[in-house]
Amino acid sequence: MKAGKIIVLLVIAALVASFFVFDLNQYFSLEGIKAQQQALNAQVSANPWLAGGLFFGLYILVTALSLPGAALLTLLGGALFGLGWGLLIVSFASTLGATLAMLISRFLLRDWVQARFGSRLKAINEGVEREGAFYLFALRLVPAFPFFLINLAMGLTRIKVGTYWWVSQVGMLPGTLVYVNAGRQLAELESLGGILSPDLLGAFVLLGLFPLIARKGLDMVKARRVYKGWNKPAHFDRNLVVIGAGSGGLVSAYIAAAVKANVSLIEKHAMGGDCLNTGCVPSKALIRSAKLAAEINRAHALGYNEASASVNFTRVMDRIQRVVGDIESHDSVERYTELGVEVHKGAATITSPWEVEVNGQTLTTRNIIIAAGARPFMPPIPGLDKANAYNSDTLWGLREQPKRLLILGGGPIGCELAQAFQRLGSQVIQVERDVRLLSKEDPDAAELIMNTLRAEGVDLRLQHDAERFEQVDGQEQLITRNLKTDEEVIIPFDAVLVAVGRKANTDGYGIEKLELVKRGNGTLETNEYLATRYPNIYAVGDVTGPYQFTHVSAHQAWYAAVNALFGTFKRFKVDYRVIPRVTFTDPEVASVGLTEQDAKDTEVKYEVTRYNIDDLDRAIADQVAEGYVKVLTVPGKDTILGVTIVAAHGGELLAEYVLAMKHKLGLNKILGTIHTYPTMSEANKFAAGEWKRAHQPEKLLQWVARFHRWRLGS
Ligand SMILES: Cc1cc2nc3c(=O)[nH]c(=O)nc-3n(C[C@H](O)[C@H](O)[C@H](O)COP(=O)(O)OP(=O)(O)OC[C@H]3O[C@@H](n4cnc5c(N)ncnc54)[C@H](O)[C@@H]3O)c2cc1C
Repeated sequence: MKAGKIIVLLVIAALVASFFVFDLNQYFSLEGIKAQQQALNAQVSANPWLAGGLFFGLYILVTALSLPGAALLTLLGGALFGLGWGLLIVSFASTLGATLAMLISRFLLRDWVQARFGSRLKAINEGVEREGAFYLFALRLVPAFPFFLINLAMGLTRIKVGTYWWVSQVGMLPGTLVYVNAGRQLAELESLGGILSPDLLGAFVLLGLFPLIARKGLDMVKARRVYKGWNKPAHFDRNLVVIGAGSGGLVSAYIAAAVKANVSLIEKHAMGGDCLNTGCVPSKALIRSAKLAAEINRAHALGYNEASASVNFTRVMDRIQRVVGDIESHDSVERYTELGVEVHKGAATITSPWEVEVNGQTLTTRNIIIAAGARPFMPPIPGLDKANAYNSDTLWGLREQPKRLLILGGGPIGCELAQAFQRLGSQVIQVERDVRLLSKEDPDAAELIMNTLRAEGVDLRLQHDAERFEQVDGQEQLITRNLKTDEEVIIPFDAVLVAVGRKANTDGYGIEKLELVKRGNGTLETNEYLATRYPNIYAVGDVTGPYQFTHVSAHQAWYAAVNALFGTFKRFKVDYRVIPRVTFTDPEVASVGLTEQDAKDTEVKYEVTRYNIDDLDRAIADQVAEGYVKVLTVPGKDTILGVTIVAAHGGELLAEYVLAMKHKLGLNKILGTIHTYPTMSEANKFAAGEWKRAHQPEKLLQWVARFHRWRLGS
């Protein structure tokens, strides 16, 4: 604990202790204040401003320190200063005291709470940001809720001080009024209980419930208003229509069919969507072919005199299509039809909140799930449209290997493809505006990958901004600006692959007509239940984000399908707490939960345990002894906050941590689990072992050593 905190804690403890040690609480009883009333009245008459000021200060002190007696002081305020002045003084003093109590709680406890519940606090804070003022107002309206508890609890959230102030000021006013008013007849009061009669308390509870009820009502009215002007069909043919048969759409339709709903799935292009046809599957098939080239390059280190191979690029690209073809059946029309899904091949258009048109046919449906995916974003760089440019959609049609492949973008797709093409024999020049690649990962992970790419021959141009494309004497070139030196740099190339992000598909299928809301980044806005502004229209996958991964689309699909079909009874908020991701470079970069960078940015307290793979037997035997396992834990505990693994098969290693985090298993549990020897997975156990070593019970071990010495007879 920092010195500042210790001092504040000691001062507060001293003040609270003196309150009880000097028996000051005797004055904070009904009898106590009644006994003093006459004398105090005389003081107020003699010097009203001084008395008012002292009372104001005392009130703030009592409430800021969360001492008992605020209710009695409120009565006394009415007795001494009357209704008008009493209300004014108490209202401001109580708000100021409440705000100070909240700030004290924030100062003393928030770090501890952050460290303990850091990863979960994010969602709570987001909730408080959205609804905090609302719930605080409801709580403040009911004086029966302990005043000091509200202050302490709200201090742990990120509620803004200004918001806290005004909501408390307004919310506490009715209760303050009742007490100050009652205080005017202080002499006749027999007990505090009498002030809040059951009827009055009931009225306050109703008052407190009012904003919540009003909010629910408002939501209902809003939901109804959104449908205004649309004609709801009297009868529906389907329970659910799903637009798009990529990862999100396929899983949504699958779940609906599994629970016997009448579901239609519409796909305008290829079943399986991006992942199967132009994303995960082809890129991983390409990476596999490229890996062999890297293996051959390492042949000498593995005991061969020499080994060489020449790449047949056309065969590599043809193999990719064969792989896609082999997996295609998993996502085929036939398979889904067998599962009970009615599949339509054609472009869907939403014509009303309950109607979707496809191939001239109108399907009526209670619910719609939009799973229309995303497409590569082509930035408006002058000359790009005339360049020999590819993106992740068009790349797979390439049959002639570019000698010099320029890759724009240093994200996961750019990095995976840069390494693969370089290994297959192209000279890759990778251009990135940022100071490093893989900006979402920790700097040390990115550093390792950048070093690997450079060592394999990739020409990395970091901090380069693409300004324009040109063709000079039939030669394609990109003009970039070196952001460090502000110099213009010309990069000649044969083909350019644009991998600078993906744009949600939100145009041309009825979104505009329904006025569905888009976020700043172009994705469809959905709430925590994945519903759009129409409660019966949901969106999943890349079209809504925030994570653009196949497994997240599938994860969201469950929530959207269940909420759409059973939301009348119960709706589920989508859970993003444990989202793993892998960049399939070699070595792979795999992470789940918080990265160290995230923890720093969000001020979550953490401890780092690192295990270097160069120590791992299997990695040494396989000649892949580089990388690390980095685990972030709650200080002093084995609770996992996040993991980053940079290693061969890092994606596979991560699964154990994903399971552990999902089911709240700590590092002790991983350490206590048998891991087969010799496997890469032992790295996880050794990382847990590193953590254990750093948290040995030193004192106990000293005693154990003494015990052993004693047993030796020395
Ligand atoms: C090169 C690359 C590599 C990737 N590698 C990985 C990886 O290794 N791991 C991973 O998790 N993710 C990876 N991804 C991301 C992953 O592919 C996507 O996150 C995932 O496919 C998104 O699924 P989706 O269902 O949201 O959309 P999509 O798969 O894009 O499906 C949307 C479907 O909707 C259809 N559609 C759109 N509008 C209409 C309409 N009006 N009517 C009918 N149909 C319509 C489209 O034709 C499309 O088939 C990769 C992406 C790329 C580009």
